[in-house]
Amino acid sequence: MFEKVLIANRGEIALRVLRACRELGIKTVAVHSVVDAEAKYVKLADESVCIGPAPSNLSYLNIPAIISAAEVTDAEAIHPGYGFLSENADFAERVEKSGFVFIGPKPETIRLMGDKVSAKDAMKVAGVPCVPGSEGALPEDPKEIVKIARAIGYPVIIKAAGGGGGRGMRVVHTEAALHNAVNMTRTEAQAAFGNPMVYMEKFLENPRHIEIQILADNYKNAVWLGERDCSMQRRHQKVIEEAPAPELNRRILTRIGDRCAEACRKIGYRGAGTFEFLYEGGEYYFIEMNTRVQVEHPVTELTSGIDIVQAQIRIAAGEKLWFRQRDIEPKGHAIECRINAEDPFKFTPSPGKITNWHPPGGPGVRVDSHVYSGYTVPPNYDSMIGKVITYGDTREQAIRRMRIALSEMMVDGIKTNIPLHQELMLDERFIQGGTSIHYLEEKLAAKQEVGKGK
Ligand code: ADP
Repeated sequence: MFEKVLIANRGEIALRVLRACRELGIKTVAVHSVVDAEAKYVKLADESVCIGPAPSNLSYLNIPAIISAAEVTDAEAIHPGYGFLSENADFAERVEKSGFVFIGPKPETIRLMGDKVSAKDAMKVAGVPCVPGSEGALPEDPKEIVKIARAIGYPVIIKAAGGGGGRGMRVVHTEAALHNAVNMTRTEAQAAFGNPMVYMEKFLENPRHIEIQILADNYKNAVWLGERDCSMQRRHQKVIEEAPAPELNRRILTRIGDRCAEACRKIGYRGAGTFEFLYEGGEYYFIEMNTRVQVEHPVTELTSGIDIVQAQIRIAAGEKLWFRQRDIEPKGHAIECRINAEDPFKFTPSPGKITNWHPPGGPGVRVDSHVYSGYTVPPNYDSMIGKVITYGDTREQAIRRMRIALSEMMVDGIKTNIPLHQELMLDERFIQGGTSIHYLEEKLAAKQEVGKGK
């Protein structure tokens, strides 16, 4: 096992990785920007290194500064968390070339899956079902593009091969709007991701977002730990996640999960990863793979009993998977609410000092957060300040516990989206389960209309 791991991230995931390292008896190095110097995980880490000023491009995305921090502290491995450099193949390569272990897949795997066109191709070969769409990237010839769209059938969605974070996508309903949409997406993709390549998919009108968590080692062993439903989204950003996904046919799901594990063996995948699917009309359509730990990993940890972050570290250290597929028996139900520093209904960010922080507790309640009373939420980063996760024998119990947890929780000094979560935990359609990815936006839009009428 490693003696020392450097955590190349911030916020709740930095604390989460730190806790996993401590339990494994590994010393930790926290790297931080100037504004994060007082963070809890920085104080708890065995060592810390300031890697630059607040803007992420000068600190958390500053590859040379992070590699030097690993060099001066003699760390053996680097955990990238999520976001920032976690899916940057060049970073993974630099880490390995500098003699450190990258806690994640091989750089070439990150590259393969980071390009959504090559990822889809690899999945098709591995027998994972994909959204019907263009064979690879769209050609230059406008006539060819029209032909492809006709063959798929409108509405279609134009997506950037290098896209991420819900950006670089455009829905097209008519042929008249097609060229403009393709050109605009290309220009945007070039500006945002440095890659103008775009592809086309059938736009699914009312899907759910279902994803499969997998773990694979260096020896071609791969298992899936169950699925998550992350359909409660706003602007393609997840708000609530749960495991298992309500009302799914377990037999079909098992076949999909097994295909994902098989795909991992085929592409030589290593570490934790997630296959994301849109689910509509009883069918699963692969959209992309995330080659890192995800924000919503705790719901799977609670239902599968497996510590995913520790597993990432143990696999990176060369351990063989210590369980088989048949040992995985998900139990109970877990729900996660992402707590953001923002106005609960207008969604404007609300950074600033938290004067009072009282997290909830009790049976079946887990809080993953780095904040505390007196902590200042900096304006420079993502607005998520933590996650409340509840577990119950049944979905009903997990929801009930979430309602109690949210009602106990006190965050003063800044605005948070707790009132939105409280509303959703009482929402009839959510309680029923199985809402589509558009449900939350539709609900919010309807609410606005009512507000205007008053
Ligand atoms: P990103 O990497 O930016 O998250 P994804 O490919 O995972 O991009 O897509 C993000 C979201 O966009 C999905 O969760 C879904 O809401 C929507 N989306 C993507 N592809 C389609 C599609 N073919 N039909 C309908 N919605 C889609």
